[in-house]
Amino acid sequence: MLDLDNIRSEYPILGRTVEGRPLVYLDNAATSLTPDRVVRVINEMYHCHKANVHRGVHTLSQEATDLVETTREKVRQHINAQSIEEIVFTRGTTESINLVASSLGDMLQHGDEIILTVMEHHSNIVPWQLIGRRKRVRIRAVPISDDGQLNLEAYEDMFTENTRFVALAHVSNVLGTVNPVKQMINIAHRHDVPVLIDGAQAAPHLPLDMQALDCDFYAMSSHKMYGPTGVGVLYGKRKWLEKLPPYQGGGEMIGHVSFDNTTFADLPFKFEAGTPDYVGIAALSQAIDFINELGIENIAAHEQQLLQALTRGLLEIDGTRIYGTARDKGAVVSFLVRDINSYDMGLLLDKLGFAVRTGHHCAQPLMARYGVTGMVRASLAVYNTLDEINAFVAAVRRVASMF
Ligand SMILES: *Cc1c(COP(=O)(O)O)cnc(C)c1O
Repeated sequence: MLDLDNIRSEYPILGRTVEGRPLVYLDNAATSLTPDRVVRVINEMYHCHKANVHRGVHTLSQEATDLVETTREKVRQHINAQSIEEIVFTRGTTESINLVASSLGDMLQHGDEIILTVMEHHSNIVPWQLIGRRKRVRIRAVPISDDGQLNLEAYEDMFTENTRFVALAHVSNVLGTVNPVKQMINIAHRHDVPVLIDGAQAAPHLPLDMQALDCDFYAMSSHKMYGPTGVGVLYGKRKWLEKLPPYQGGGEMIGHVSFDNTTFADLPFKFEAGTPDYVGIAALSQAIDFINELGIENIAAHEQQLLQALTRGLLEIDGTRIYGTARDKGAVVSFLVRDINSYDMGLLLDKLGFAVRTGHHCAQPLMARYGVTGMVRASLAVYNTLDEINAFVAAVRRVASMF
């Protein structure tokens, strides 16, 4: 069992007020709060280890390099990748996906097809559209049922001899649906098609195993998993990373440079142009320790308990519709009450101290699928409590009664 008081004591921000009321932070799918131990690493990096990585022979540079490379190994273990060459540091999920779309895009041709799903975040749509436009590649989207589950039959039927790539979310940032990614990867591989999984919403909540999953690429963001902003991870199977051309050019990613011929560095550095956010990377290491200390299964169990209470509570309010009711669901509840605008609801909840997300959640095609322009979303993390959930449900009820 988790010691919530102890966990919350690592978050000074949870002690602050908003509009004179205690803050209840329920916008964790947008970004999670950062525990003190992670902030302390950032401080310590600037105080004691500030030096560029992979460049200097001097002690400070060596120390910074070691911290980055130890984190790479920690990430590898955390997601059970086969080797550290398969772990590329990026700025976040968005950059990880852009890297793959851009580099892979070089290999695509007019008439090729890419399969996405209707529930994708804009980060997993627009990079493919940019490439799609340049190469005149066709993009298809797997439809969902009303309860927010992907239609697997439709998915299988989408494969043609022109299908070159599949990219889909592990967990929907709006519906919470945990997609059957393992099964979908198997189907794609039967057609010889590689798969990228957008794991931004899975990494903070689910145990990950790249070798068991057998995906070709996996993208995640540090700031959604209790780490700092500005850092992300791209996992890529070695055979793919070897095949893809570099994404950006610059320092760090080269073997030898001349005006006649430039060669590139070995993996993973081929994809890490420029000075990385080594401060953030070192702090990510601490965030992974934080997750592992608590145990990701314990985190998930706690969040599931809150999710059930939240779902039950909201459904007791007249006229509430919850979007996304799949059985396998992460700790996210998107909803509307009657015809109350999500923005109005969010604004009034903020006046009561509750931070939720409103609007389209970077998933406009999904909003269109449900025929709405926005939803209110409450998303959970390990430090949320049952008291907060009960207070939130009461606040939604109160706000709803004002309309
Ligand atoms: C947040 C999110 C992203 C984008 O992550 P960034 O950290 O903004 O790059 C992509 N996909 C999903 C499902 C997300 O929730």
